[in-house]
Amino acid sequence: MLKNGDGLMEKTGAVLIIGGGIAGIQASLDLAERGVNVELVEKNACIGGRMAQLDKTFPTNDCSICILAPKLAECSHNSKITLHTLSEVKELSGNVGNFKVKVLKKARYVKEDRCINCGVCVEKCPMRVNDEFDMNLRKRKAIYIDYVQGVPAIMTIDKENCLFFTKGTCKICESVCEREAIDFDQKDKEIELFVGSIIIAAGYDMFDVSLIPRLGYGRINNVVTGLEFERLICASGPLGGHLVRPSDKKEPKKLAFINCVGSRDIKNNPYCSSCCCMYTTKEAMIAHEHDNGLKSTIFYIDLRAPGKDFQKYIKRGIRDYNLNYVKAKVAKIIEDKEKNPIVIYEDINTFKIKQEIFDIVILANTIVPKRDAGELAKVLGVELDHYNFFKGETYHPQITSKKGIFLCGACREPMDIPTSVIDASSAAARAAEIIIER
Ligand SMILES: Cc1cc2nc3c(=O)[nH]c(=O)nc-3n(C[C@H](O)[C@H](O)[C@H](O)COP(=O)(O)OP(=O)(O)OC[C@H]3O[C@@H](n4cnc5c(N)ncnc54)[C@H](O)[C@@H]3O)c2cc1C
Ligand code: SF4
Ligand code: SF4
Repeated sequence: MLKNGDGLMEKTGAVLIIGGGIAGIQASLDLAERGVNVELVEKNACIGGRMAQLDKTFPTNDCSICILAPKLAECSHNSKITLHTLSEVKELSGNVGNFKVKVLKKARYVKEDRCINCGVCVEKCPMRVNDEFDMNLRKRKAIYIDYVQGVPAIMTIDKENCLFFTKGTCKICESVCEREAIDFDQKDKEIELFVGSIIIAAGYDMFDVSLIPRLGYGRINNVVTGLEFERLICASGPLGGHLVRPSDKKEPKKLAFINCVGSRDIKNNPYCSSCCCMYTTKEAMIAHEHDNGLKSTIFYIDLRAPGKDFQKYIKRGIRDYNLNYVKAKVAKIIEDKEKNPIVIYEDINTFKIKQEIFDIVILANTIVPKRDAGELAKVLGVELDHYNFFKGETYHPQITSKKGIFLCGACREPMDIPTSVIDASSAAARAAEIIIER
């Protein structure tokens, strides 16, 4: 379906989805189910997005990867969905119904049709670097897969760190791979896609907590972020699910969670991050499941639990998980000689300044727009809002400023997984309307 006699493209029968997090995945699956072809473009080596990094998910406390894995597998096996990983959209032309998209696909240096994810190369690779998936809390090798259940289940060589690319030596992976899957000659390539409509599902970044130095992040070892804590308590994370303090590997007995870090804050981000009240409750519950002698305090400005049964979830936390909620403004976190963080706060109910010692402090830093959202918006010709989230119409939030381009998930505004899924289905329905003849 390329060009008609006048040189114009005819209506094309596929939808381009940008971003393979839960929103992009759900939109892909919905469209495939309706018989629409999907071109799913993901920047990372594997699809899954942030949901793959989470340990459990509120409101059910189900294992995150257990819910996600079947969807990942379906995305990779469904004949209607073509996965383009390590890929980014670089150019867009045409109009609704007949867009032409240029995608840059980075070289993986591993042949996709030969690698069987056996892991022999990883074991032998001598180069250890920070593992971004595990929030740099452990090392990975220069040949790696993003995470154990990652899809596609194929290794990638990290060119920036591989000894062959940096020093011209090594090639151990090539010599141990019996499948002859390593290919150092692979080149980045540009591919062209023809689609009728587009869905942006590019997700979010995290607020940089070092911008609030009084909270001690980066200076006090036992102060971590919410996403770091997800990895620390996860069975597949750097601690194998056995929670200990970063500074001295002691089992913690007292945790503090600080909500609204960088959100609802006119100096940083005035908006609500929407899921932190719930995920700190979840993280505290899970920590308690690890050790039921553990006591967690959650410092909050307002508790925002607007979803169905979310308030019940918080009540369950207080009743069954020994959670303590303190309405407070945290002023500062300092450290004593034993490396214990001390939270200094104003108790909003009594207006008293108080302080308390904890073993670990978890900062619920806000969801922020993708740092490169502006670049993608420019390529696609769509508008961002005043925060730099992708802008949707007020009463039809999945509709962007450009006809035929839709959006869903946390690239639109902070949202939890169930809302991202609803959003994705809505965007998929709108994108399909353009493709399917009525
Ligand atoms: C600490 C923490 C705990 C949480 N816990 C829960 C919970 O328990 N329950 C819950 O419901 N929600 C939870 N959430 C929220 C949840 O993470 C989000 O709702 C969900 O990840 C949003 O999915 P998404 O697909 O919109 O974005 P993402 O998960 O960010 O996925 C976006 C994808 O797009 C890709 N991408 C980005 N830019 C491009 C580009 N230009 N080209 C191609 N690909 C691109 C990214 O690599 C990524 O794979 C939590 C959030 C945090 C921070
Ligand atoms: S590249 Fe080769 S050795 Fe490495 S996982 Fe794939 S098949 Fe196994
Ligand atoms: S060539 Fe690169 S990826 Fe392969 S084993 Fe050596 S350092 Fe690791």
